Amino acid sequence: MLNVQNISTFYGQICALDGVSLHVNEKEAVSVIGANGAGKSTLLKSIMGEIRPRNGTILLSGKLINSAKTFQLVSRGMTLVPEGRQVFPYLSVWDNLLLGGYTLPYTKRQQMAEEVTEPFPILRERKNQMAGLLSGGEQQMLAIARAMMTSPKILLLDEPSMGLSPKLVYEVYEKISELHQLGTTILLVDQNAEMAIDFCIRGYVLMAGRLVGEGTKSELKSSELVHSSYLG
Ligand code: ATP
Repeated sequence: MLNVQNISTFYGQICALDGVSLHVNEKEAVSVIGANGAGKSTLLKSIMGEIRPRNGTILLSGKLINSAKTFQLVSRGMTLVPEGRQVFPYLSVWDNLLLGGYTLPYTKRQQMAEEVTEPFPILRERKNQMAGLLSGGEQQMLAIARAMMTSPKILLLDEPSMGLSPKLVYEVYEKISELHQLGTTILLVDQNAEMAIDFCIRGYVLMAGRLVGEGTKSELKSSELVHSSYLG
């Protein structure tokens, strides 16, 4: 479904991604783990058209998307849940959701908001509250539900565990697993290697802009590199 081939992305002279190749098959759950500054966000931004890789190709469902704009990729079925949630803190939970589907007709938007909050009852309970009053975990769930307003076939998640307590990290991952089981293809990047590996079917290890490892969940779990660098 998603095929990233040998991409390199720069910020001026700084090489943030150096010849990265990965793929995500339909219905798969794929994780990319890596430390601070490894290039995880740059990878997702490069895929989503927020930054242009200098080299390499990116294919979505077999079509080249190197020069596609972000909104075009959303309408082609790929949506990003950004790092740090990025909810609108002074808008209600419900309005945050509706904004996620602003290209839909009004009644369809309301109907979608009902649908996407089915796995997130807390968002329904607090639909009229300002999003900034939600806990970090609830805001993460809102950001995920907002992304689901676009009915993505493939959902990209940037650091879903960021800033959350272990209990909330677990809850957020449970919800992401539910979405995966309901048929959404997932590519996520996270510093929290333990959770990201537990969640995935396959995964990759990114270090200083390069992929240095890949494998199935069990291969990653038994990898010396993963243990020494990320699982301690
Ligand atoms: P984190 O978990 O801290 O977000 P990351 O793995 O997502 O880390 P990136 O944010 O992709 O890493 O950053 C990769 C490299 O690119 C880092 O060296 C970072 O300092 C650099 N970088 C990121 N954004 C910019 C920018 N706008 N300008 C210059 N350098 C940048």
